[in-house]
Amino acid sequence: MRVVIVGSGLGGVETARALQERGFDGELVVLGEETESPYDRPPLSKHVLRGEREPFRLLPADHRIDLRLGVRATGLDVDRRVVTTDQGDEPYDALVLATGASPRRLPGRPGLVLRTLADSLALREALVEGTRLVVVGAGLIGCEVGASARALGCEVALVDALPVPCMRVLGPVVGERVADLHRDHGVVLHLGVGLASVGQGEAVLTNGTRLPFDVLLEALGAAPTVEWLGSSGMPVDDGVLCDAAGRTDVPGIWALGDVARWDGVRVEHWTSAVDQAAVVAAGVLGTVEPLDTVPYWWSEQYDLRLQGLGLVHPDDDVQVVTTGTRRRDVALYSREGLLSAVVGFSASAAVTRLRQAVADRLPLEQVLASLG
Ligand code: FAD
Repeated sequence: MRVVIVGSGLGGVETARALQERGFDGELVVLGEETESPYDRPPLSKHVLRGEREPFRLLPADHRIDLRLGVRATGLDVDRRVVTTDQGDEPYDALVLATGASPRRLPGRPGLVLRTLADSLALREALVEGTRLVVVGAGLIGCEVGASARALGCEVALVDALPVPCMRVLGPVVGERVADLHRDHGVVLHLGVGLASVGQGEAVLTNGTRLPFDVLLEALGAAPTVEWLGSSGMPVDDGVLCDAAGRTDVPGIWALGDVARWDGVRVEHWTSAVDQAAVVAAGVLGTVEPLDTVPYWWSEQYDLRLQGLGLVHPDDDVQVVTTGTRRRDVALYSREGLLSAVVGFSASAAVTRLRQAVADRLPLEQVLASLG
């Protein structure tokens, strides 16, 4: 059997590893557009950006994967079971799509973006003491870059059309705490306001505010990298559509990670790609093991480690409780009295303990009682 994996990021590499761990002994090919040996993305907005650590490589030097770097998949013929690339055809018996997501851009692409190691190194080069940085988009990556840039001595302005930072993963109540955190660290926030135009060294907001900058970062989120699937007929709608085990409705094709929408939900978190890789590897080998883990993410901003479990809805009820011997805060999100998500503020132990409660959607009252 010949398995082809398109994408040499976390999802692709973890699937290859999981296949090998499960005893796969056929032909295993991983195609990756980037020429860099596979690396981990989370440090790119944190330690690597601040110049504190070298990039973390996902594979040891002696890996046994047929890794073809610098090869771009350009199309897919599902009838012939062939991936076309800029370097020839790759036939497959099983195909795994792991092409991740690509940064959304402002019209005219006036700024830098952060997705790849090269992006991180370019940004790091540009951020020196006193640099005026304007970050457009106060999601997790925009906020992390803002925090890292403050540590490097930059002047930072964060702009977002939404009323609080990280609205999508935190909701309005907890997002306000993160806004305060950035203000406390000297970041100037422009929230609930759009970008009207970007000129030479100056951004103009829709409320007329003018923000001069040395560096502009476009941190507007990412869209699934699906363009190359073009006319292949693959089912795509904000990601490649898959069931709860990563199967598309085309026989022999799976998708995972940032490019995939499993059971209606596309999750752009590190742990989801790893969890999904195990499920896809099992599926390729003939065992259907639907994913039953709770989505988990983390973020590091200043000395705060945020951790989230479950998916937040803007209308969730939110209650913040202080817990544990170290008196750390945990936000409990609930819908109709049932626990739906959790966000911890440097509260790893409590978040770990609450994982099963989120999975089981326990009544909030019961959860509160268990926290004491
Ligand atoms: P990717 O890692 O993007 O890999 C996809 C690969 O496919 C890329 O190498 C791409 O070049 C390649 N590719 C695309 N198209 C083609 C093609 N046509 N042919 C060949 N190759 C192709 N998550 C957290 O939970 N916590 C964090 O703190 C966190 N921090 C992050 C910080 C940054 C700066 C970024 C960018 C992401 C962060 N994430 C974090 C998210 C996490 O890294 C992603 O969810 C994870 O990388 C997804 O893996 P993936 O394999 O789906 O996609």
